[in-house]
Amino acid sequence: MAAVSVKDVQRLFLQAVLSRGVLSLKLAQTLWVKSKVAVMAADNNLEIAHAGTRDEWDAFVKRLNESLDNLDLEFKQFQEETTGRDMYAIVNRKDDAIAQMATDYTAGEIAFFKAMVEQIMLAPHRSFSITSLAALREVSHLKPKSNMSKTQAEVVLASFVAQGWLMKSKRGRYSLSTRALLELMPYLKSTYPDEIATECIICFEVVTKGVICPAAKCQVCMHYHCFSKYIRTRRRECPTCNTEWPGDQERMNPIGEGAARDGDDGRRRVRKTTENEEGDDMDEDEDEDEDGPPPPRTQQSRKGKGKKPAEDSMEVDEDGDEAEEEDSDTPVKTQGKRRASRRS
Ligand SMILES: [Zn+2]
Ligand SMILES: [Zn+2]
Repeated sequence: MAAVSVKDVQRLFLQAVLSRGVLSLKLAQTLWVKSKVAVMAADNNLEIAHAGTRDEWDAFVKRLNESLDNLDLEFKQFQEETTGRDMYAIVNRKDDAIAQMATDYTAGEIAFFKAMVEQIMLAPHRSFSITSLAALREVSHLKPKSNMSKTQAEVVLASFVAQGWLMKSKRGRYSLSTRALLELMPYLKSTYPDEIATECIICFEVVTKGVICPAAKCQVCMHYHCFSKYIRTRRRECPTCNTEWPGDQERMNPIGEGAARDGDDGRRRVRKTTENEEGDDMDEDEDEDEDGPPPPRTQQSRKGKGKKPAEDSMEVDEDGDEAEEEDSDTPVKTQGKRRASRRS
């Protein structure tokens, strides 16, 4: 039989990790032990340290990362946003993380994912989440136009969740998963610099699920686990504005899905620079009747419910599949309005 070596532990371990995406420290260590056991079983004489100590683990991770270095990959440790648990994932160190999804998804599906990220990042009141209806609605806004059916879109969404790119809450809201936050951070920082600026005052990582100081003008925010630690060890007041804080996170103002209000998802938001970029290369596949001028604004009323003035072009009824497709065709004239309502 072929000879095995210590390298095989890395190989087996990587295979196991890659099939799981994000994993806890405990699971990662279990997979590590299993990989060692498997290799040792193949060759009794092979010398592999297997005391399972933290030092041994750290040394293994270090060697693994030396192997991954040439590929611009890293087996990275981080804290899960919701729980503060120690987690690991293989992450791409290049900031083209979305491009790497091309191995698993079609261009149209990746465009759908980017649209999801956009709606999640721009969701009002820092809810950093959207409903399934709002998610499915994005399909009709994709550029170039997508012929993805609603059922296909649901399958793709389920796959985003299964692959650990998105999270779906009990209430059915989609948000960015730990993996997405980890791997897409360079992309998020360059694309949504304002929205991503909500940094935890304790651990300095981005907060998309946590609490924010109830004082009107104060922007101090923390992860839930950072808040618990803070409350346990310090006085119950905001470290910046000294507003008295409740000791209970439920009574703090939420960041994340708890911040969503009824009607938030009734309209979609579009990043202003997206509009500009897309405006620059307004393309033929946008409308069938090419060569002609951009579609007239009368599109609004052509098949819509007739009640919508043009100014509302970016505010779309959730339940109007028909009405939704329209405003994506009239980007230029409505830009100003969209910008204005982006942060409302
Ligand atoms: Zn934190
Ligand atoms: Zn404060």
